[in-house]
Amino acid sequence: MSQTAKVRNDTAEVILPTAGLSGQLINGAWVKPVSGAMLDIINPCRSSVITTIGAADREDVDAAVAAAKAAFPSWRRLASRTRGALLTELANRVSAHSEEIARILAAETGNALRTQSRPEVMSSIEVLRYYGGTVAEQKGETLPLGPGLFSYTTREPLGVVGAIIPWNSPLVLAAVKIGMALGTGNTLVLKPAEDAPLAVIRVAELAADLFPNGVFNVVTGVGEVAGAALSGHPDVAKISFTGSVEVGKLVAHAAADRIARATLELGGKSPTIVYPDAATDDRIDGLAANIINAMRFARQGQSCTAGSRLYVHQDVFEPVLKKVVEKLAVMKIGDALDEETDIGAIINEERYSAVREFISEAVNSGAEVVTGEVPPAAGRNVGFFPKPTVLKGLTNDWRIVQEEVFGPVLVAIPWTSEVEVIEWANNTHYGLAAYIFANDLTTALNAASRIDAGWLQINRAGGQIPGMSYGGIKQSGIGSEYSIEGALEAYTARKSVTVNL
Ligand code: NAD
Repeated sequence: MSQTAKVRNDTAEVILPTAGLSGQLINGAWVKPVSGAMLDIINPCRSSVITTIGAADREDVDAAVAAAKAAFPSWRRLASRTRGALLTELANRVSAHSEEIARILAAETGNALRTQSRPEVMSSIEVLRYYGGTVAEQKGETLPLGPGLFSYTTREPLGVVGAIIPWNSPLVLAAVKIGMALGTGNTLVLKPAEDAPLAVIRVAELAADLFPNGVFNVVTGVGEVAGAALSGHPDVAKISFTGSVEVGKLVAHAAADRIARATLELGGKSPTIVYPDAATDDRIDGLAANIINAMRFARQGQSCTAGSRLYVHQDVFEPVLKKVVEKLAVMKIGDALDEETDIGAIINEERYSAVREFISEAVNSGAEVVTGEVPPAAGRNVGFFPKPTVLKGLTNDWRIVQEEVFGPVLVAIPWTSEVEVIEWANNTHYGLAAYIFANDLTTALNAASRIDAGWLQINRAGGQIPGMSYGGIKQSGIGSEYSIEGALEAYTARKSVTVNL
């Protein structure tokens, strides 16, 4: 689809949330924001307004936190397996409405229905089921200290959790926060991103009568207002934030001011390293598919774990790029709600223009365009569809190689020395993910041990799987999510009881 794509409405293709459009789920009821302020939600493939939702300010956040605080004492006392059963029931409800939710998600995020939005709904269901089944493992330890003397620990919930999520994978990230916070006995105030709150609101509608009033609350609104009020709230015991490094630092400061706990899942600029033995004639096809998948091209590159720096051994550099280009050429860019579409649109004009600026700066500095283009300036009433772009002829110190573009832009650099390529991979303030492709596993495992990242994948480029420990190092974040261990570490405190018999 080109920049002059026809604008269409979402009517009849997307069934919108109903009760939840006022935006605030507080104490089990949907309420309009006190100020009456509303936000437009835009379909980025069509530049059309899908609907409007309520925009919370400090007063609404105060009410949501107060409801969560009041609900905490009885919620924490429920048996963890009872809480788990409610998470499983939420998964069942999401599953029963999965197509409807996937269509909402595609419309608001621009993430293609077939390749991204349906799989994201499935992942969200998996995450809720995972926590539903594992939260009963909220065990402590016993320490024998001598005759008649022992100490035992229990895992106590912290209180009200404030969770703030971005627009790129809103549903699965909401599921992670709901599963971890509620499963471990905390109550929750969740703030979805202003660009993509609707699928989360639909799930909240399904959850509204499931949990006791006040256990699960949702506030929608802009980050600087609703997000800041939540992260700075004195009654929020823990903040779980997923988003940019820039905002992550503000959230961390707000939490530090009152010694609240914080989990931060932030950005990345993840390396993909290709060894020559991964690109033999029989492997090169699968390798190219993996490189494209690692780059999250079918998500327009809008993924924190995008393998956006491609380091390929010099001996196989050109054939690997040729194969990647061949495969990208057959991927269809288009409206996220079309079944044929592989790649949808960038979330909004601001992000589209930032991606455009990155590519144009690199090209003006001499980068060679292997495939793609400097995207045209954002037009009025058209969607934001940059072509998947691969650049070469640049070095590790370029801005486009160092900074997170958060768009479909892969920079490719050849290497000859393994020591040097690992140095390049580590030469970044990020440390979220990394991908290694090598047929020789000793080579791959040695490289994995030397790369500074929270999540290494060897000969694979898929997404997170419930149960794995996932989180970044360096400026990519603090703490890990997705596993029951992560939930226990980050959402509970150990209480020690020492007993003298
Ligand atoms: P963002 O930081 O701009 O926004 C994230 C959330 O923070 C939104 O809900 C926003 O409303 C809120 N927010 C904005 N300003 C705030 C403030 N002052 N105080 C409190 N909250 C505020 O990020 P984004 O553009 O929505 O998302 C893209 C970023 O998220 C990328 O950097 C990406 O790498 C990162 N991300 C990380 C992970 C991970 O697991 N590590 C996953 C997805 C996205």
